[in-house]
Amino acid sequence: MNASLIPTITFDLHASEQPVPPEVRANLLEAPGFGQVFTDHMVSLRWSTDRGWHDGKLEPYGPLVLDPATAVLHYGQEIFEGLKAYRQESGQIVAFRPEANAARFRRSAVRMAMPELPDEAFVQAIELLVTQDRDWVPVNPEHSLYLRPFMVATTVALGVGRPANSCLFLLIASPSAGVFSGGSVRAVSVWLAEGYTRAAKGGTGEAKTGGNYAAAFAGQQQAIDNDCDQVVWLDANEHRWVEEMGGMNLFFVYGSGAGARIMTPALTGSLLPGITRDSLLRLAPDLGIPATEGAISVDQWRAGCESGEITEVFACGTAAVITPVGQVKGASGGWTIGDGQPGPVTMRLREELTGIQFGRRPDPYGWVHKII
Ligand SMILES: *Cc1c(COP(=O)(O)O)cnc(C)c1O
Repeated sequence: MNASLIPTITFDLHASEQPVPPEVRANLLEAPGFGQVFTDHMVSLRWSTDRGWHDGKLEPYGPLVLDPATAVLHYGQEIFEGLKAYRQESGQIVAFRPEANAARFRRSAVRMAMPELPDEAFVQAIELLVTQDRDWVPVNPEHSLYLRPFMVATTVALGVGRPANSCLFLLIASPSAGVFSGGSVRAVSVWLAEGYTRAAKGGTGEAKTGGNYAAAFAGQQQAIDNDCDQVVWLDANEHRWVEEMGGMNLFFVYGSGAGARIMTPALTGSLLPGITRDSLLRLAPDLGIPATEGAISVDQWRAGCESGEITEVFACGTAAVITPVGQVKGASGGWTIGDGQPGPVTMRLREELTGIQFGRRPDPYGWVHKII
């Protein structure tokens, strides 16, 4: 098709007539928590087989009206993304690698039989919302504006067996302090999933879809019942290879000082390909820390900690950036990683990555996307 015949996606602007008053907003921004406070606006965009993408809007944040027979409510046909906008010291507001989220959103859409939103529209929606709600981007250097793009199937029919014929894309934003942050960085304890599996090859583990989370809540509850913060998922086949921690990817640190190197489980088809994970695989070698993708079993993890070969373990993802793991527990006992406290390699990588995001470090990779 001639490129000029492809209709461009546009968004009409409907600014809120009742934005949150500045003093109330300032109060909310003091301690926003994670995913609890939302900005004044949202972006919405519809898709149907007949009309393609249409009805793009930037509008006041508010509830949706859905027919009770809407597909997402019954069959969970939904995908989402998570990324952040940061206010840098210069005052510049940036997003971190939004093009990478746009590409992953398309891959998730294909897996869930939903339409692919063009990357330009995905990034445009982010630019529009962050620009409109820029006063909600926290000034506190530990906080940021969490962005949640998502898409639900709005086909109205209970019959299954075909791809979505209509969908609703939405983008909302939430000022956030980070998932596990309570001032300082604290090491979390993890529970090795017993009985439950998050994802299997050929399933939806690689897609960022709500169903993966719905399937994980019982395992997360098991972790909490065993006095752990988070659940660690093992492979579906042998139930012994380490895959992910909750909604974050894992890295293992071997050795220390100038001899330290890091390894993360390879993307075997059931893991979510994290953008933070990808960023660390590129960043660490430039800091003199070799980084590889590999495989590690629960037994190897335990033996590595006991021999001292494994010195640190951390989880990484957009919401909590880099979170040290201090303790591991499972049905057959537990062990401590290093001294159970955040380690130097973990904290160095955290400092470097957040340094790029907040503009305290140069960005040789072109990861930072200027918005306003
Ligand atoms: C989103 C997510 C991650 C982390 O991905 P980032 O792009 O780094 O935020 C890891 N695992 C799961 C299951 C996820 O949903």
